[in-house]
Amino acid sequence: MEKRKTVHTDVLVIGGGGAGFRAAIGAREKGVQVMLISKGPLGRCGATPMAGADYTLDGKSMSTIDGLVGDPNDSKEKVFNDIVTQGCYLNNQKLVEQYIDRAPHCLKELMDWGMKIKMSDERMVFTSGTGMMNVLLRKAKNMGVDLVEDVAILELMTKDDTITGALGLEIKTGEFIVFRCKSVVMATGGWHKAFWPNTGMRDLSGEGIAMAHRAGADIGNMEFITFCCNVFYTPPMWRGSIAPYILSLICGGKLTNNKNEDVLKEYDPVLVDKGTQTEWNKSFLSHVTTKQAREGNAFEHGGLHYSRGDASWELMEMVASLVFPDWKYKALDLTEWSRMLRDNIPVEVGPAVEYFEGGIVVNEKFESSIRGLYAAGECALGVFGANRVFAAITEIFVQGADAGMNAGDYALSNSVAEANLNTITDICDQMVKPLTVQNGTNPVALRKKIQLSAHQHLGPIRNEQELVLFIKMLEKIKKEDLPNLSTESKSRIYNKEWLDALELGNMVHLLESSARSALARTESRGVHYREDFPHTDNDTWLKESIVTNKPEGLSISHRPLTITGMSPFPGRTPYLDFIKQMMEAHSETGGKH
Ligand SMILES: Cc1cc2nc3c(=O)[nH]c(=O)nc-3n(C[C@H](O)[C@H](O)[C@H](O)COP(=O)(O)OP(=O)(O)OC[C@H]3O[C@@H](n4cnc5c(N)ncnc54)[C@H](O)[C@@H]3O)c2cc1C
Repeated sequence: MEKRKTVHTDVLVIGGGGAGFRAAIGAREKGVQVMLISKGPLGRCGATPMAGADYTLDGKSMSTIDGLVGDPNDSKEKVFNDIVTQGCYLNNQKLVEQYIDRAPHCLKELMDWGMKIKMSDERMVFTSGTGMMNVLLRKAKNMGVDLVEDVAILELMTKDDTITGALGLEIKTGEFIVFRCKSVVMATGGWHKAFWPNTGMRDLSGEGIAMAHRAGADIGNMEFITFCCNVFYTPPMWRGSIAPYILSLICGGKLTNNKNEDVLKEYDPVLVDKGTQTEWNKSFLSHVTTKQAREGNAFEHGGLHYSRGDASWELMEMVASLVFPDWKYKALDLTEWSRMLRDNIPVEVGPAVEYFEGGIVVNEKFESSIRGLYAAGECALGVFGANRVFAAITEIFVQGADAGMNAGDYALSNSVAEANLNTITDICDQMVKPLTVQNGTNPVALRKKIQLSAHQHLGPIRNEQELVLFIKMLEKIKKEDLPNLSTESKSRIYNKEWLDALELGNMVHLLESSARSALARTESRGVHYREDFPHTDNDTWLKESIVTNKPEGLSISHRPLTITGMSPFPGRTPYLDFIKQMMEAHSETGGKH
């Protein structure tokens, strides 16, 4: 039998990004024992430190906070209107209200804890992801949260639909750890690693959503995936960096195809204005670029050329000095790119996966359908519906705070449920298989194949034929490759190849959930565009997709929307006309959101 140690706590927080840290602080405020587990290094893993980062809230509340701009004519009602229309009505409106109501308090709190602000506008505060993580790390340490890094949680333990704990792997020793606890907050973020190129870190492979699903929680709206536009496609060192996205959003620039055509010329001016000058740009420009590529108009690496065009070089220099001083950004030296921009020499850019609108189904207390299991941040379903424009950074704080507090309350009134340790033994035996199988499927090569195929078939533009092919490929991988994974190194100590093998099943599970949901949704809405169903269909498709994990396989169903204040209008509308209507429905408050 596998050797393993057992660790006890009251609330186990899985995930060391912004949502996880804020949840741990929220639970600890209730006076219970809290342990936060992070797969990567504390404060430097997940998407949060990668973010620019903007925090959005209503401008009126913001204008009352010392030192911030904020538009006093903005209101919570206007923000509600804007988030719901940006989400093409698929948002859970209770969670939108929670986001808006809690945002000012959570921002003030962060500032009181020492978070530095770089600048602010009508309804957005610009700070830095690493700065945020430093503040959270200090606060959590001071409050006595037990912080554990380099441990990957592999499976949740439940009995009678109630949390009993979780099984983890200590990456540096290769030993299993059983965590026994009263409640769990899942805060594992997105699953960027299932795609290439991507903009995320290598630790985001979706185990959190997949293990919650395996444990019996429903997941939903998995077909909605935001691709960041204008991401570097080449050179390889820069591939995946969002630096051109940031500069193009603030300063403008030009996108041309391999025929040297300005690709935006054929579009309605409203779409082009809002779709380049606000954060609608992610969905709109990713759609435009992918369409060009599918029509054979892309360059060598599948992207378009981005150059300065008529945009001012002085403005670009000024913005760069704020966002990436000395043209250094997230460990990349972009000096060469600054010269290219100045001389109007293009770089190849395109869409790369950045954010997942879908996730674990939760109610307004962030409870899942499993007793004692909560979820917050990017791994939870709800706020942004079919398309995110407002900040995900706000989401992680407002949801993390409430999920943590509620998980803390749960721990105060419940004891640790009895666990079935026999199933743990079976799971551990399964997990070590790649270390014992000889000459099987190489996990790294398989991951690369899956990533490229996911980008191609589950990108911003989909159709039935490609989705069916992709699902067949995943089914074959599940049957033939996953049971036969075999690492070259058989050591358990810091074996990243083994970790790759353990992550793969989760990525395949989520890709299949997403592809099946995309296949079932025979319409186009938000970031989900179907070439073969190019209308947004409010008569048939105003519903959330739910994926249920049944013994015979994944099953897709749909549930009614959660509406509190804003009812959608009926009718079928061509995709881009609908997007234009949603852009025009925006309140008069300015800014990028
Ligand atoms: C490059 C980039 C830039 C972005 N910029 C912005 C921006 O400017 N503004 C904005 O609003 N949004 C932005 N986003 C989105 C936003 O940053 C994320 O949605 C948000 O940070 C997610 O936070 P989270 O806490 O939910 O997850 P993350 O910050 O991703 O944290 C997830 C954590 O879970 C851990 N984890 C994963 N699996 C396991 C496991 N099995 N066991 C243990 N731990 C695990 C990871 O190690 C990590 O610590 C950006 C995203 C990217 C990728």
